Amino acid sequence: MGVLGGGQLGRMLSLDARRMGLKVLAWTGGDRSGAAATADQIIDSPFDDPGALEEFTKKVQVATVEFENLPQATLENVQKQVKLYPGSQAVTICQHREREKNFLSQNGFECVKFRIAEDFKSFKKFLSDLDCDVIVKTAEFGYDGKGQVRLKKSLTEEEIKEAWKKFEGGRVVIEECISLQAELSVLVARSSKGEVTTYDPVENIHRNHILDVSIVPARIPQNTQIAAIDIALSIADTFEYVGILAVEFFLSTDGRLVVNEMAPRPHNSGHHTINACACSQFENQARAITGLPLGSTKLLSPVVMMNLLGDLWVDENTPPNWDPITSSKGASLHLYGKREARKGRKMGHATFMDISLEKVIDQTNSVREALKLPKI
Ligand code: ADP
Ligand code: MG
Repeated sequence: MGVLGGGQLGRMLSLDARRMGLKVLAWTGGDRSGAAATADQIIDSPFDDPGALEEFTKKVQVATVEFENLPQATLENVQKQVKLYPGSQAVTICQHREREKNFLSQNGFECVKFRIAEDFKSFKKFLSDLDCDVIVKTAEFGYDGKGQVRLKKSLTEEEIKEAWKKFEGGRVVIEECISLQAELSVLVARSSKGEVTTYDPVENIHRNHILDVSIVPARIPQNTQIAAIDIALSIADTFEYVGILAVEFFLSTDGRLVVNEMAPRPHNSGHHTINACACSQFENQARAITGLPLGSTKLLSPVVMMNLLGDLWVDENTPPNWDPITSSKGASLHLYGKREARKGRKMGHATFMDISLEKVIDQTNSVREALKLPKI
């Protein structure tokens, strides 16, 4: 199995795939932060290296991606020679907010009001068209809130000029900033044989635009959860998708359910599935792309997943004391082996399980208190 990308998702995918007896070749593109240590073999060269392409496609029977910001040409070249799941079309749509928003709206999936600006003139015009608080996002290469700016409505000409400076030269998506009741995500697994299943919807809480905790079962009305599952399934069908697809949703305070964005790969909000589901999102990714029957997505226990960001580190090389997590029964600590901690960098996660969601949240909150994080 070939994996394009070298981060923590590839690391966890390799761990599950190798447990199943698959051999994994990770083409890291030079990013050796997570996947390199767990794959059978790695190719370290950049994604535009023709020699690396040749080696990769010669060695693997099926390929997948663990992050979406791959050059379109690489995806297409790989796909010409081996099965690539998900295919380059789904990945290139999901990697680019403009294409993603257009795909969603053209196929009838509701998202927030948005405009695409490419220069100062259109930027200014669309801000006044939308006439509300907005979030401006770069069309490409944004993640964990990077490349995003929140702007109040009715800015002065000077303020608009200042805001545009950060985006000059690129295309941006300007989105209506909505008031959120909750955020949720649905993970779909769809196999190369067309079999399809979903995990229970996940309730996600973000801090500073980065996922902080995921909670399952989600504390969100049942009919909203069912609607989200329906939408996620029909997006996967529209793509004729193979692999794991994550669909992120906003639930607004006035009860509107809209699609926020999609990820064509296992997702941070699916990490709880390693400990708390019969078959993890990573095992199902491996199953889906190799044409095996999908594993059960059944939730075995109420669960909270909490991200461990570099902010917790004493300095870039010194992790905090993990005793609060390791001594907590039902908690599981996952670290990604990244060398340097940075503010906002995902270094690992912890999963908490107990007999009731109330107990899980209490347990999570005592750990959060010990790590000086605000309670959920
Ligand atoms: P990323 O690729 O960084 O995950 P998102 O578009 O998902 O980018 O934005 C990150 C977070 O920022 C969201 O999960 C949400 O909390 C907040 N956010 C983004 N867009 C909006 C919006 N239009 N209205 C309200 N909150 C938003
Ligand atoms: Mg997001």
